[in-house]
Amino acid sequence: MAGRLDFSKQGRARVYFLTFAGTLFCIAVALAFDNFSFETMQWRWAAAPINDVLIPLILAPPFFWFLLTKLRELAIAHQELISLSATDSLTLVLNRRAFTAVVEGYLERLAVLQTRSDGALLVIDVDNFKSVNDTFGHHVGDEALRLIASTIQGAVREGDVVGRIGGEEFGVFLPGVSLDLTKDLSERIRQRVHQSHFAPNGRAYPLTVSLGGTAFSRKTSFGELYRTADERLYAAKHGGRNRVDIFDLELGAGKPMLA
Ligand code: GH3
Ligand code: MG
Ligand code: MG
Repeated sequence: MAGRLDFSKQGRARVYFLTFAGTLFCIAVALAFDNFSFETMQWRWAAAPINDVLIPLILAPPFFWFLLTKLRELAIAHQELISLSATDSLTLVLNRRAFTAVVEGYLERLAVLQTRSDGALLVIDVDNFKSVNDTFGHHVGDEALRLIASTIQGAVREGDVVGRIGGEEFGVFLPGVSLDLTKDLSERIRQRVHQSHFAPNGRAYPLTVSLGGTAFSRKTSFGELYRTADERLYAAKHGGRNRVDIFDLELGAGKPMLA
């Protein structure tokens, strides 16, 4: 049961516990100062030691309760602000700054720990998105972006990181994946978007994305991954769109996969 108690800064258990502990502490201090002789280092009980319990018992709980409740509210507000500042308001995936920070943090940890680890960065761009806006209006374009973001999120594994890095461009970071799994996951994203049901005004309209990616198994940086993935995205667009093109950082080879 105790394991379920939330003792985090946002948890109520912390408020209860610290109110209780703070009150006990005040009682102990009152008893000590009123009844202990620091000259003789002996207890000499005052006329009414019960007051040393009663007065802190009346004053301390409301004081600690108020203080800790306010601290808890601040911790919750702080958490919400962090979450808001990291989230893209349209698609609810990470915004560019947060996405970049998460990937950079991961790569820096790998470098510090000197761990060899596989992974991949994908850059995903919606194909001919301008025509969605031009045909149906900007609000329908927004709807398509939301659908694509949730489709990408639904196609990746738990622990993979999805962010919106530009207008109709998304980034996906796949920690700990091999080149083969990178290709599989990229292809799965491409297919899921292609199969997604988007029907503005009741008429089905096919959405497709092109994916450029870089798979790595050596020390690298976000800048290097993004640059090479973006080059592959460019190649995928020129290859006809609705396709995947993955670069293997180890071999230095792009591997286009045709739709
Ligand atoms: P390509 O296949 O070459 O990527 O063609 P494209 O039309 O997707 O690319 P282009 O760069 O020409 O157009 C991107 C469009 O995305 C233009 C811009 O108005 C639109 N866009 C960017 N951000 C948003 C957004 O937040 N909402 C909507 N509705 N449209 C957006
Ligand atoms: Mg585009
Ligand atoms: Mg674009």
